[in-house]
Amino acid sequence: MRVDAVVVGAGPGGSSAAYALASAGASVAILERARFPRDKPCGGGVLVSALQHLPFDISPVVEREIFGFRVRYRRQDEFNHRYDEPLAVMTQRSRLDAFLAEQAVYAGAELRDGDPVRAIETNRGVTVRTTRGDAVEAGVLIAADGANGVCRRALGLPRLRAAVALEGNAPRSQPAAERWTDHVGLELGSIRGGYGWVFPKREHCNLGVGGYPSGAPELRRELADYARSEGFEAEALEQLRAHHLPLRDAGQTLTLGPVALIGDAAGLIDPLSGEGIGNAIRSGQLAAEAAQRYLDGAAPDLRGYETAVADEIDPDLAVARQLQALFHQLPWPYVQLLRRSSRFWGAFCRIVRGESSYHGFRSRLGPAQTLVALAAAYAEQGQRPQARWQAEPT
Ligand SMILES: Cc1cc2nc3c(=O)[nH]c(=O)nc-3n(C[C@H](O)[C@H](O)[C@H](O)COP(=O)(O)OP(=O)(O)OC[C@H]3O[C@@H](n4cnc5c(N)ncnc54)[C@H](O)[C@@H]3O)c2cc1C
Repeated sequence: MRVDAVVVGAGPGGSSAAYALASAGASVAILERARFPRDKPCGGGVLVSALQHLPFDISPVVEREIFGFRVRYRRQDEFNHRYDEPLAVMTQRSRLDAFLAEQAVYAGAELRDGDPVRAIETNRGVTVRTTRGDAVEAGVLIAADGANGVCRRALGLPRLRAAVALEGNAPRSQPAAERWTDHVGLELGSIRGGYGWVFPKREHCNLGVGGYPSGAPELRRELADYARSEGFEAEALEQLRAHHLPLRDAGQTLTLGPVALIGDAAGLIDPLSGEGIGNAIRSGQLAAEAAQRYLDGAAPDLRGYETAVADEIDPDLAVARQLQALFHQLPWPYVQLLRRSSRFWGAFCRIVRGESSYHGFRSRLGPAQTLVALAAAYAEQGQRPQARWQAEPT
């Protein structure tokens, strides 16, 4: 089989790239390891900032709209904040990802699911081999195979550092689930390098905890403690699953000859919030634009994608890294700022809604930016050993 573009992985990143390429007239094959619909360990929260990237409406798979937060600090100090516009929507990944892949197929892409990629050869183009024995030749490859994919390894790229998270579902039959409707719960300050969450869905509440990989052995206990502290029966949590959240450091490879890495395969998760669907979608679209120019002969390579990420995504990731380091060094003042300052809460909501960015937020600090950068660099130094992750070979 020969196509213009082969996309490995049908998560939000891969499907968005395939949709954009197929809509622009390219022939596209999506090779997906799992049989669809498939689930993925994820809270399934999609920020309004992420929705704004999508060229179509996803309301058929939206289970709840979120207007506020109930924040707790170290399981005690508690406060609620609401906003008059939606901040996020709640989905289930099995339904969201099937819906996004379906849009790519409607646009003209071919989805081959249940057929894992096992090898990649790059020459002037690429040849991808699957475990079924198929070979797909293409002009470009979009590597969208997530945290535990094959592309990085096949291309000889180093592992990314990563956070780790564990999540599970509490059915709505649990009485504690009743009060969760249009707001999410955040537990701050008690989980090293991360936080706990309650995300309300239609049939269940999704509960999770995530943080530094060094805390992985504790996550099961942390989740059970957190669930109990919210009144849930920890023993009755269903579908418990842990997964990595790969995190890009500045300057790490995004393209290699005819290959562009996007989403989790490129480590584009926001290190402060753990949100990765938005950047998966956006990086897929940016990679598709660069790939289309390359396929049309209008660009000599895919480096336009690197430039686009450097302009649009990297500046925000850099600030999110700083805020993450500062927050986890000394969480209390930031929680108080969020609690007491309506300006800070408003800034947070505008970022979540895509009306502002971390980078825009930092710019408004004026000369204090230098102080923030120095404090963050100091905090990041202390954090590195805990933040390192060695992926198990798959
Ligand atoms: C516990 C947890 C909770 C999270 N909660 C949120 C949240 O609420 N909101 C949010 O925005 N982000 C969240 N994230 C992050 C988010 O899940 C990821 O950033 C997002 O899924 C990245 O999308 P992607 O398309 O890059 O990769 P993925 O969604 O991981 O998709 C990769 C695809 O590639 C396929 N694949 C893998 N290997 C192969 C192969 N060899 N051949 C073919 N296909 C292959 C996989 O089957 C998969 O379908 C969470 C992450 C975790 C771990």
